[in-house]
Amino acid sequence: MEEEEEVNAYLQSCGGFVACHDAGSKGRILVATRDYQSGEVIYSEPPLHIIEEDEDSEVFQRLEDFAARHALYSARWYWCALNSMTASDLEQFAQLPCSIISEGLQRQLLWLCAPDENASEALPVFQELLHDLGMADVPTEVTRKFWQLLQVWKYNSFEYSDDPVASAIYLQASFHSHDCNPNANWVADDAGLTLRARHFIPAGQEVTISYLSDEELFESTSQRRMRLKISKDFHCCCQRCAELWDRSRGVRCQCGRLRFLDVEGSMLSPCDAGCNWPSVDEVLRREELLVLLCRQQADADRATRLASAQTFAAAAEQLLPRHWATECLWKWLAEGCATKLEAKDCEAKRLRFLQDAYEGAKRNTHTAWVMSSLAMWTLSSCGALQHATPPDCSARVRDSGALELLKEAAGLLKDLNGEDDKYFRHVQRNLERVSHLDTA
Ligand SMILES: [Zn+2]
Ligand SMILES: [Zn+2]
Repeated sequence: MEEEEEVNAYLQSCGGFVACHDAGSKGRILVATRDYQSGEVIYSEPPLHIIEEDEDSEVFQRLEDFAARHALYSARWYWCALNSMTASDLEQFAQLPCSIISEGLQRQLLWLCAPDENASEALPVFQELLHDLGMADVPTEVTRKFWQLLQVWKYNSFEYSDDPVASAIYLQASFHSHDCNPNANWVADDAGLTLRARHFIPAGQEVTISYLSDEELFESTSQRRMRLKISKDFHCCCQRCAELWDRSRGVRCQCGRLRFLDVEGSMLSPCDAGCNWPSVDEVLRREELLVLLCRQQADADRATRLASAQTFAAAAEQLLPRHWATECLWKWLAEGCATKLEAKDCEAKRLRFLQDAYEGAKRNTHTAWVMSSLAMWTLSSCGALQHATPPDCSARVRDSGALELLKEAAGLLKDLNGEDDKYFRHVQRNLERVSHLDTA
């Protein structure tokens, strides 16, 4: 059987929710076999295989030493590949340095390996590694297979747990391509991975997922491409990445209109009033400083981030009012606002940027989370969260639209992550808390 037929037979055995097609230069893609409504579960699948790290094992420590000497892969991926060998791969060893898997399981894992011309270049490195592990006599085919399995784990596995660190392969989900405007969302828990439609997906359309977090999807094209290059080693050419103007890099023109930088950062979208300020160089210089600030302080403590945001947010907003890095400053600011109204104002600015950043941005869990936060600050500023609510509270809540916004956030989280999602449940609890104010 051809591999594509074999994969399709497997997908069929899983319920036939998606089918595999060869899309020419794009490689294998998965398409919907029927229509899926917004929020509908496309499928759930248990992990095909899970590998836990074992930092105490001597072999793992040797892999870490090796990874430190050769800045190629982290020890984690060598470990996963080593633990995906079969008994026949390692038949000449009386004492195995790893656990083994069945031939059938290994074959399924290898379905995920894309052919790569760099294999022969990498082989000497792997021979050295296997030599280090006392496996010097392994045949070349086995070394090659080891390299393929390493690619499979590095590029297709999902983080399964933090403690102990474990990676999992979900076979169906691994066949989905990434898109920066994905039409499906995945959630993984102990039971497995569940894929839901972010919006209506007609039969025959490719079902895509995001290899980035929902928050990262709001970053500029160059940032997203950099992340994908580092983590998955590919240059994203999705429709969104191919757009001329980058909507995550909105610039305020001299006349007050909104303009956008292009993906390369070489020009600004034209202004209807024909303004020639700001210059691209000026924008890029300020943008670079802003992005640097966000990166450097991403892991700093709250107080440090707040201080930076207080110093730089106004200037950032002036020149880059619809920019992903400005949104980052608003987020830090909202965490430490002195008044409810200020916090509400920050969340409103964040939401304005998020909802407009790309076509599918309204069907994104990060957007839903900011919606819920804006709704809660709004309710709070109406006095709705106090023990004794003010007499005109109901009317103020009604006029503010906060309850509708909170309901919308809950609906979105339920659609994207399901009813068991902790964020959905949190928003749902908040809704119940203020349900007595719901006069609609
Ligand atoms: Zn993309
Ligand atoms: Zn202008």
